[in-house]
Amino acid sequence: MNILVAGGVGFLGSNFCKLLLGKGHKVWALDNLITSSVSNLEAIKNDSNFSFLQVDVIKPDFIGQLSQVKFDAIYHLASPASPPWYQKYPIETLEVNSIGTKNLLELARRDGAKFIYASTSEVYGDPSVHPQPETYWGNVNSFGPRSCYDEAKRYGEAMCYTYLTKYNVDVRLVRIFNTYGPNMDPDDGRVVSNFVTQALRGNKMTIYGDGSQTRSFCYVDDLIRGFYLMMEKPVTGEIINLGNPGEFTMLELAQKVQTLLGKQLEIVHEPLPQDDPKQRRPDIGKAERLLGWKPEIDLDQGLAATIEYFSNKI
Ligand code: UDP
Repeated sequence: MNILVAGGVGFLGSNFCKLLLGKGHKVWALDNLITSSVSNLEAIKNDSNFSFLQVDVIKPDFIGQLSQVKFDAIYHLASPASPPWYQKYPIETLEVNSIGTKNLLELARRDGAKFIYASTSEVYGDPSVHPQPETYWGNVNSFGPRSCYDEAKRYGEAMCYTYLTKYNVDVRLVRIFNTYGPNMDPDDGRVVSNFVTQALRGNKMTIYGDGSQTRSFCYVDDLIRGFYLMMEKPVTGEIINLGNPGEFTMLELAQKVQTLLGKQLEIVHEPLPQDDPKQRRPDIGKAERLLGWKPEIDLDQGLAATIEYFSNKI
């Protein structure tokens, strides 16, 4: 099949392109490279089924560059995703999930392609329902430091809904919970990359607030297996959480990293960012039911692989 991956050079996109190529598909990766590095393409750049176009999906002229190809599926994974990066690029984040989503939906409409949109657990904001099922509408501050991301993704979801109901485009939505693993950028500021790189460098580990807030961490290989099933299974018009329901406090995560590295490190507490969600855990009942998916790699295994990746990288 011909598959387009917008954001194909990023952490999730590059891992997913590799999976698609391994399954024999032809893959086009689009990326503007503002938060990703072509070093992520090392393993796949010479594959004859792989093409990379440095374009910005906010500008619709990229569609003209793809006039010779008819796509079977389009994955929209293009967006800054870590809090430091979407706060550094707030306008780009708003635009890629609104205008960018519309442009890519137009391409899906042109080709009759399946359209898979990478939404996020951030649409649940600081959730008052726990764990979070897809039916929960969320608790989001629309006017704060996280709103450029949270509201952009909510708008993107609304755009997908509209293209489904107005133009019958075959949209499928994934709400991604915290994911980690190889090809994460060491400097993206997320908690796993921060803790692992701090520990490897022998620096202090930075815990924001008292460290009692929780997250549920999914290893990237599990997540992209779910991405693939989103295209294969009959889930038109569905929104599906993909994440690992194992829930940990940030203190527990810091402890795990130290145990795996056999190091005892100093911890410094820094101020908790505004609107930082206090808890997060996916209800994955729907993914299990509709995709036959659940994660297989636990945090210890996944962290060990991530530590190995970062040890070679930094
Ligand atoms: N966090 C932390 N230390 C860090 C980076 C993040 O304690 O060096 C906390 C952050 O406040 C949040 C959690 O870890 O509660 C997850 O943050 P991340 O940026 O990875 O993702 P988020 O789920 O907030 O989008």
